[in-house]
Amino acid sequence: MAEHVMATVDTPGGDTGSKQLVYRDEALEIERVCIDTIARTVPTPFYCYSSDAIRTAYLTLSAALKPVGASVCFAVKANANLSVLGLLADLGSGMDIVSGGELERALVAGVPGSKIIFSGVGKKRSEIARALEVGIHQINVESEAELDAVIDVAGALGVRAPVALRVNPDVDAGTHAKISTGKKEDKFGIAVQDIPALYTKAFAAPELDPVGLAVHIGSQILDLSPYRAAYSRIADLVRLLRSQGLPIRRLDLGGGIGIRYDHGTSADVGEYAMIVRETVRNLDCELTVEPGRWLVGPAGVLVTEVLYVKKTADRLTVIVDAGMNDLMRPAIYGAVHPVLPLKQDRQGNSHTYQIAGPVCESSDIFGTYRDLPPLRSGDRLAFGCAGAYGASMASTYNGRDLAAEVLVDGDRFRVIRRRQTTEALLALEDETEWQVSSHSPTDLRHAC
Ligand SMILES: *Cc1c(COP(=O)(O)O)cnc(C)c1O
Repeated sequence: MAEHVMATVDTPGGDTGSKQLVYRDEALEIERVCIDTIARTVPTPFYCYSSDAIRTAYLTLSAALKPVGASVCFAVKANANLSVLGLLADLGSGMDIVSGGELERALVAGVPGSKIIFSGVGKKRSEIARALEVGIHQINVESEAELDAVIDVAGALGVRAPVALRVNPDVDAGTHAKISTGKKEDKFGIAVQDIPALYTKAFAAPELDPVGLAVHIGSQILDLSPYRAAYSRIADLVRLLRSQGLPIRRLDLGGGIGIRYDHGTSADVGEYAMIVRETVRNLDCELTVEPGRWLVGPAGVLVTEVLYVKKTADRLTVIVDAGMNDLMRPAIYGAVHPVLPLKQDRQGNSHTYQIAGPVCESSDIFGTYRDLPPLRSGDRLAFGCAGAYGASMASTYNGRDLAAEVLVDGDRFRVIRRRQTTEALLALEDETEWQVSSHSPTDLRHAC
């Protein structure tokens, strides 16, 4: 269940566990586009997403949530590409953002401020001001100090800020420690016992419109029972606040619904909707959920090329041209992504390889995989389930350009983000004047 099992993963030939990712004539296709065809024009590594997979996931989730009246705000941090945001926005999704940068992305993608929720534990005043200017749906506040900042900023702008308090329900999400957010020792949210006083303060402030409560207990949650515990606590809190005469009209139930990285079945959203029904449905609140990973994770692959096969002590290690800077999850969470060769091998897939990236870090290892075809330099592979927290977490470490992103729709594909160029990165940097001329009048060495 936890994703830090650094185990060997089977990639049974043929079955990719995804409707949009299929082998046809031994070649891996995403929807109806052969990935190798894309790789002939787009240099590896690159991300590739299926529009159909994203659409289907959104429609499945919103259908499951419709009977309980909950709406969906996509967590932008999972995949912030404008085309992905646009695709979800066209389906009616709102957005959950955690920074001013994500706010601008959501706006550019065509999402109005009135459909955007601003989450996150460290919002700057400039970000709060911008959110209020664009008519943000709600700001989820995570501390008293932040509440004071919102009061200040709203006061200065002469507007009333719609705020929800993010509750830390002290529930263990049963997930990897680095993606748990709802235990009392986590940095997120406000302790249950501090909520009544803070909500009372918000209610008394003319600059604020306290709309309700928010909760988000963590990510990659496959056993859904922690949701029941958290939402029950929220329901109790709503009843308590209302008994004190405080109005609560919205509940933001957070994200975190898990997917299976080993081709198993992802968390059942029908079961999730049932938990929502049984815990908070009867409170007569507007309900919102904020999934990221569940909507886009299975929809994407990271395509890479084998550079070298080398013998290390007791194994064969395949060095590929994608690294931890492109897909950070294996290195930071010990996550294991499935590997799919772009070409199947008629002789069968029975080879075991450790797959590693080129980055100068020992943790730049994707895992050890059995049942792969014999690999040689120039062969291409796809890491599956890479649509969430892949491109959005990438860095330029080791002087590596951010990978391109490609979107497939039926039999078409389009580059939706060009590969970053080293020139574009270098353009941000200036040589200091005192390096260029040591006799310059602004030479800092003379000032000291
Ligand atoms: C990250 C995050 C989400 C989305 O989490 P997923 O596991 O991708 O569903 C939702 N809400 C908040 C507040 C978050 O920080």
